[in-house]
Amino acid sequence: MSKKMCKRVKEDYLETHLIEYIEHVKNPRYVCKKCGRVADEEELLCKSKKIKE
Ligand SMILES: [Zn+2]
Repeated sequence: MSKKMCKRVKEDYLETHLIEYIEHVKNPRYVCKKCGRVADEEELLCKSKKIKE
């Protein structure tokens, strides 16, 4: 996944890559301060913030 998830979700990403998306959000380690999305890799988010554990 080269493009940021935040941007991809606005396109047709979820319909075509739902399984891949789930893999990145089921154990989130980062949250996007701008969009509120979560992911396991900070580079997938446009304004990533590490989630405290
Ligand atoms: Zn974002």
